[in-house]
Amino acid sequence: MPPPGPVCTFGRGSFRVNKPVIALTERRAFLRTAAAAGGLSALGLAGCATTQASPAAPVLAKPGFRPVPPLGALLAKPDRIMGITVCLRPFRAAGPRLDTEKVGDKLVVHNYGHGGSGWSLSWGSANVVVKKALSGGEKDVAIIGCGALGLTAAITAQRAGARVTIYAKERMPEVRSARATGVWSPDSRIALASAASPDFPALWEEMCRASFRTYQSYLGLPGSPIEWTDRYILRDNPPPTSPATDPMGFAHYESRVHDLLPRSETLPPQAHPFPAPYARRLSLPMFNVQAFGRLLMSEFLLAGGRIETVEFNAPADLARLKEKVVINCTGYGARALWKDETVVPVRGQIAWLIPQAEVNYGLVYKGVSMLGRRDGIVIQKNGADESWGYNDANETPDRAEAEAALATIASLYPQVPV
Ligand SMILES: Cc1cc2nc3c(=O)[nH]c(=O)nc-3n(C[C@H](O)[C@H](O)[C@H](O)COP(=O)(O)OP(=O)(O)OC[C@H]3O[C@@H](n4cnc5c(N)ncnc54)[C@H](O)[C@@H]3O)c2cc1C
Repeated sequence: MPPPGPVCTFGRGSFRVNKPVIALTERRAFLRTAAAAGGLSALGLAGCATTQASPAAPVLAKPGFRPVPPLGALLAKPDRIMGITVCLRPFRAAGPRLDTEKVGDKLVVHNYGHGGSGWSLSWGSANVVVKKALSGGEKDVAIIGCGALGLTAAITAQRAGARVTIYAKERMPEVRSARATGVWSPDSRIALASAASPDFPALWEEMCRASFRTYQSYLGLPGSPIEWTDRYILRDNPPPTSPATDPMGFAHYESRVHDLLPRSETLPPQAHPFPAPYARRLSLPMFNVQAFGRLLMSEFLLAGGRIETVEFNAPADLARLKEKVVINCTGYGARALWKDETVVPVRGQIAWLIPQAEVNYGLVYKGVSMLGRRDGIVIQKNGADESWGYNDANETPDRAEAEAALATIASLYPQVPV
């Protein structure tokens, strides 16, 4: 953690601004002070810098609630954008394809089409497909694809005693999986409620629980590949009493696994430092994808796995492989390789800000999210519902979209000079 810096006191909640700590909010006191000072933007760092340093004490949000710790203030400035990436979620209305098929003398087990849930469901999906792949007693397995689904299937097959070779056009970190947000989101764009089979919700639950368990085994490791973080959902107006509209009818199954996560908490305005009066806090697993991806690669290679750079143009190309069992983890690439037009791209863009160790939490505000990962700070427009980006295969970064999203988040940090 950075050393404590100068402090401004406006009550009990707190923001860290770079190294300085600005203690904020007993919310009403803060607003009164701000008004007296000429508005929120008048409370800049310069006015704080003379006060002696001391870390702000955490405050209790409500009796019995966990304190809101000092939160580092995001330097939400366009010149801190270090990159803009675009990724296509491989969405299938019926849910991921996990069936088997014979191609020549090969048994192909499919493992693609996980929408916006690929990282979250990966280990559970791997259990399902590896069981199918090894059911005939084969010990040599080929995996096509070296993204989230390929690497987790490969490691799961190794743990079950198989010798595994990955064949892929790109490998981590060049794959689309490396451009994901990095949150636990097991039912994000996973299927349409109307198109998923009646068996799918139970299968989803099995995969979700298995993945959740496996991710716990990656906590507390050097480089923090996986960690739990808090997310603050902020609003200017009271939350709607009826569920948000979803014109496409995406499937949501979170009620089946409500026991996995701590309950979300409503925070009173005086308990958090943001200038948006309505706040809810969630705790979720977060994936530091760069560290986690490298860890998966090392784990696979250390266990004797091999990776070959190969591009397949048609299923018939699998005849070149020596293995009889193939797990197909090609993600959005399956649309072209398998001529599977049920795979629909759902575009998502991320602007990456330079990491700030003290920004170790996430925000959601006005259809934009921020996530303070160790390998970069994610700024992402999410739109009004999950259909944002649907059927859009454009992977060209849009700087204007990135800066507009950043401006939305910047409005939550009026004390940071732009
Ligand atoms: C903006 C965005 C944010 C996301 N955020 C999250 C999140 O926070 N949490 C979450 O759980 N999920 C998230 N997702 C979803 C997740 O990223 C995807 O579900 C996941 O990356 C899919 O992984 P994959 O391994 O199937 O595909 P990929 O990562 O695309 O890997 C496919 C692999 O197959 C190879 N391949 C493809 N075609 C061929 C071919 N013809 N020949 C040889 N090799 C081939 C590729 O080279 C690559 O190695 C997000 C997605 C997007 C777009």
